[in-house]
Amino acid sequence: MRIDGSCHCGEVTFEGDADPDKVWVCHCTDCQSGTGSAFRINIPVPGPSFRLLSGTPAIYVKHTAESGTPRAQAFCPRCGSPIYSTTPGDGPKEAYTVRVGLLKQRGELAPKKQNWFRSARSWVTGLGSLPKNEKQG
Ligand SMILES: [Zn+2]
Ligand SMILES: [Zn+2]
Repeated sequence: MRIDGSCHCGEVTFEGDADPDKVWVCHCTDCQSGTGSAFRINIPVPGPSFRLLSGTPAIYVKHTAESGTPRAQAFCPRCGSPIYSTTPGDGPKEAYTVRVGLLKQRGELAPKKQNWFRSARSWVTGLGSLPKNEKQG
């Protein structure tokens, strides 16, 4: 399906093609600190289909905690929204791992699996039992 999205402030916008069956939640500690949250939601976008429409993401190369593999983490230089990760360096990319929370289509992109569950916060599966406020509680 066609996906498109933007960072929180709107400076960085992009589009691409992605398979909704490949959405995953990542509970790894890099994703926890990289989002400031408990987990990240990702969708792979093949490199040839990914296109930046506006803005230039800032890049930070992080050696992932477990494997040491370097990953280029792209985020908006103005608002800091995480946008995607990919292989570091110049040239065409095989794929981009795009952050689902930025996408206009996120309502249709439910996760299909959870990775690095051994690092998951212990309460993450119990959210359904917490009190729910329709707005700020
Ligand atoms: Zn922004
Ligand atoms: Zn992760």
